[in-house]
Amino acid sequence: MLEVKGILNGIVLDHITAGKGLTVFNKLFENTDFPVVLLMNVSSKNITKKDIIKIEGTTDVDLNVLGLIDSSITVNIIKDGKVTEKHNVTIPETIEGVFECENPRCITNADSWAHPTFKLVGKNGSLEYACDYCEEITKYRL
Ligand SMILES: [Zn+2]
Repeated sequence: MLEVKGILNGIVLDHITAGKGLTVFNKLFENTDFPVVLLMNVSSKNITKKDIIKIEGTTDVDLNVLGLIDSSITVNIIKDGKVTEKHNVTIPETIEGVFECENPRCITNADSWAHPTFKLVGKNGSLEYACDYCEEITKYRL
């Protein structure tokens, strides 16, 4: 097992499906100033292989975006070297500010004041969202 120093204050994203760690990193931490460790293809008891991301110095992470990328992720908030909070990520029921409406005539694509908000309509893990303004279905793609 690869040895990586534990973090004192920050976040550990555990149980990321192997191969998706890089996507999470690119979406959420590419431009961060905080130290980030990305571990890929780590052996795990529950699933064959997993990716892990550790971020030192912040506890700020967008759980909605994580849920869109991979709903198997567990988020551990670390304070003073101990896990103080654990969150199981889920596919968000409503979402705002992550993607645009696919309807080119939708008001949210024409007016800068109108921010698209969406409701989950997809079933069984399908990332289909209905726009609150025009009801057009937008399927989220990574
Ligand atoms: Zn729309």
